[in-house]
Amino acid sequence: MLKASSLMVFYENMLALNNVSIRCENQQIVGVFGANSAGKSTLMYTLSGIMEDIKKKEVMAGGERITVMGEIEYLGQDIMGLKPSRRAKAGIILCPERRRIFKESSVLENLKIGGYLASPAQAKTTLEYVFTLFPALKNLSKRVGGFLSGGEQQMLAIGRALMAQPKLLFLDEPLLGLSPLIQATLVRATKVIRDEQKISLIVTEQYARPVLPIVDFAFILENGAAVLEGTREELMDNPDIRSAYFGI
Ligand code: ATP
Repeated sequence: MLKASSLMVFYENMLALNNVSIRCENQQIVGVFGANSAGKSTLMYTLSGIMEDIKKKEVMAGGERITVMGEIEYLGQDIMGLKPSRRAKAGIILCPERRRIFKESSVLENLKIGGYLASPAQAKTTLEYVFTLFPALKNLSKRVGGFLSGGEQQMLAIGRALMAQPKLLFLDEPLLGLSPLIQATLVRATKVIRDEQKISLIVTEQYARPVLPIVDFAFILENGAAVLEGTREELMDNPDIRSAYFGI
């Protein structure tokens, strides 16, 4: 479904992604694990195309020069030069780090804004689906985003991303700062989304442990390089990897 090869990203002279190749097959959940600053968000911005916007903004502001190199193939097409809006229309949707919901808008408004790419019928069906997936959101539909808990904001961010009708959904550190109980709810929901909506997901996290049970395949990033990859079983079965990366 998605195949990225030899990605290099420089922020000015700083190498943030160093020859990273990753792939995600149809209806897979792929994990990308790595410490702070390993390059997870840079990778998500690059794959979703948001990096193209960031690049432009930097140029307009006379800021740093961002260079992106490599290849990204999605459904057999080269999408490297495509704007993020074109990638979104093709089904590549990013649910960004730190949620980024519209804090002044209500839950319902946030979801409706997310549905800008959907037909009215799709928006209606997906809205109902999001409320079934996260019943807490239904009861809070009139509340403004800023007054939601961290967990509710993350549910809203995922719900808003689903409204955009993804075929390939990126969740950038969805569990960050949340309690183990909420984390478990979100991990379960991620698997339900894949199983029921038949979409593919790439999930980044600093800590692999909560997400590992639901991933089919994972990559480990260190200092901008993909240093390890394997199926869940391969990674789990290697005692060195288990203790070094998963704390188990
Ligand atoms: P985190 O868990 O902190 O979000 P991450 O794995 O998502 O980490 P990135 O945000 O992709 O990591 O950052 C990778 C490296 O690139 C870091 O060293 C970071 O400081 C640097 N970096 C990120 N954005 C910029 C930028 N706009 N300008 C310069 N350096 C940047």
